[in-house]
Amino acid sequence: MPGKTVLIVEDNPMNLELASDILVALGHQVLHATTAQEALTHLETTLPSLILMDIQLPGTSGLDLTRQIKADPRTKDITVVALTAHAMKGDEEKVFQAGCSAYIAKPIDTREFTRIVQQHLSGNGHTQ
Ligand code: MN
Repeated sequence: MPGKTVLIVEDNPMNLELASDILVALGHQVLHATTAQEALTHLETTLPSLILMDIQLPGTSGLDLTRQIKADPRTKDITVVALTAHAMKGDEEKVFQAGCSAYIAKPIDTREFTRIVQQHLSGNGHTQ
């Protein structure tokens, strides 16, 4: 599949680096943000094919940011996949209610990450 643009919103440098390395190895372009504000700044100029969203961000949470993205007609069609360290009962429901299409559990498993990312990148019509 041709390379796509993926925005990673993640405040943990190790997770960010791992996710970024995998995506680059798959031929994708990576943008990253460590806060909701940085993510929104990227979205002003770029509409990525996929957003990987840490749900635990400092300040505005990843779930609140996802709700904001899904409420904006300009960005609502971007697929958001949550990155979550706490796959506790009830969390899954919160993630989907906020508008995420799937979630990836942390610590990141390379094969699982790759599978879910490629699945969600191949299934949408965005070309940017
Ligand atoms: Mn975090």
